[in-house]
Amino acid sequence: MAGRIIDGKQIAQVLRDSIQEEVMFLKDKGITPGLAVVLVGDNQASETYVRMKQKACENVGMHSILIHYPATVSETELLAKLHELNQDTSIHGILVQLPLPDNISEIKVIETIVPEKDVDGFHPINIGRMMTGQDAFLPCTPYGIIKMLEHENIDLEGKHVVVIGRSNIVGKPVGQLLLNKNATVTYCHSRTKDLASVTRSADILVAAVGKAKFITEEYIKPGAVVIDVGMNRDEQDKLCGDVDFEGVRNMTKAITPVPGGVGPMTITMLLFNTVKSAANVLDSSYSL
Ligand code: NAP
Repeated sequence: MAGRIIDGKQIAQVLRDSIQEEVMFLKDKGITPGLAVVLVGDNQASETYVRMKQKACENVGMHSILIHYPATVSETELLAKLHELNQDTSIHGILVQLPLPDNISEIKVIETIVPEKDVDGFHPINIGRMMTGQDAFLPCTPYGIIKMLEHENIDLEGKHVVVIGRSNIVGKPVGQLLLNKNATVTYCHSRTKDLASVTRSADILVAAVGKAKFITEEYIKPGAVVIDVGMNRDEQDKLCGDVDFEGVRNMTKAITPVPGGVGPMTITMLLFNTVKSAANVLDSSYSL
């Protein structure tokens, strides 16, 4: 039987409705949640992501500004702008779209944003708080995956989760969040030996590899839940994930599609983090 499709778009909409309500509540109290997006250069994919993020802000009634620099901007000028945004009381979240040109240090940029406005959840303070299970801004894609699994009532406790990928923005934090939920987590990466034998023991498989349709039947345990984080282009230049969706769906219990799976959840959690930051100003807590 074909695995159930986990509809990220629909789950994201449910969460966005709740976020919109919180935005109205905060506006009533005189606070309009504000996001500043900083874009450097003219990378087309980055421009598209930024547009989608701003549109999503607008749709839930939030305020957003875009600061767009040419690729030639100096690191000093960029850091000065971040210091200014750190002080700006109309801005509750600051996001610098990655990647940045080689002459600008991503680490310096991330560490310049105050942790209280780090709605991407990349600052070492937020990462440390996440690792120790404290309240933190959680990185949006991993957090979106957790919310999606919760929404689908997929039990995590004691389950073997295999994460393929160990990037700082997806692989490592998603594994950590799943560990925090009492899953037993195994990380795989490009040096993992006999990858398929490891992934075939996964009750839940998270693919964050960045290789189109890389995960085929031989990597899946029958009845597994498969979360596809990948965003790639296939031979026809169509958006596709890391998983061969059509090839493996029949073996799975549930699977996320691409597009329409993890992607919409990522932007939703950015909205959530920004609203949570705005609520913090009032000393009120907000959770989804
Ligand atoms: P990344 O930094 O390139 O990391 C890829 C990971 O995959 C690395 O840890 C790498 O191992 C591992 N890997 C590569 N080839 C492998 C192989 N043959 N066998 C096993 N592991 C292998 O990518 P990322 O930023 O984590 O992103 C992963 C994918 O998710 C990309 O397609 C990206 O576009 C997508 N993404 C989607 C969203 C969303 O909202 N849907 C958000 C972020 C990213 P090593 O560490 O050993 O090199």
